[in-house]
Amino acid sequence: MRTRITLACTECKQRNYNTTKEKKNHPDRMETKKYCPFCKKHTIHRESK
Ligand SMILES: [Zn+2]
Repeated sequence: MRTRITLACTECKQRNYNTTKEKKNHPDRMETKKYCPFCKKHTIHRESK
């Protein structure tokens, strides 16, 4: 079952992406490098509630 998550930029704390994840593949908080339009660069985005 896929779970909906929000990815937030770790630098400016903006929530830039909504996505889903497979919980059994990623039981822990996911971190992904994605483009942040506020920082205007690629930053680490972390799963948040
Ligand atoms: Zn940012």
